[in-house]
Amino acid sequence: MSQERTLSIIKPDGVQKNVIGECLRRFEQAGLKIAGVRMLQLSKNQAEEFYAVHRGRPFYESLVTYMTSGPVVASVLVGDNAVLKNREIMGATDPKKAAPGTIRRDLADSIEANVVHGSDSVENAKIEIRFFFPEL
Ligand code: AMP
Repeated sequence: MSQERTLSIIKPDGVQKNVIGECLRRFEQAGLKIAGVRMLQLSKNQAEEFYAVHRGRPFYESLVTYMTSGPVVASVLVGDNAVLKNREIMGATDPKKAAPGTIRRDLADSIEANVVHGSDSVENAKIEIRFFFPEL
């Protein structure tokens, strides 16, 4: 097992639903350490840059609007296999397809408003951590 770092975002719907603590509790309970946490409001430019990989997809404009609709909570999670572990805790992108006991199955409303983001690889985690936590 390798010590990894990954980026989590509690998205605007998660913040609105008062589940910041619930999400962080689940990360900690799974053995992940929180090495940084920050609440911020993404600008349109920041959201477009963060999701640049999805530019041109049918859901891109709506995703940027949603991600800028309110504050988000970004955190750096550290632990053994943190990237995969976080993705297991989140569950599948579509809450209807997410396994029982995952954040998205338990707390999310739709494939877009799905409460949390998590880096999908160690390489992308490095880029995403730098985006939110240039000092880390
Ligand atoms: P990902 O890069 O996999 O985290 O996807 C980015 C985000 O885009 C997802 O977490 C959803 O919020 C949103 N998203 C992904 N696929 C769809 C879709 N088919 N329809 C609407 N939103 C989507």
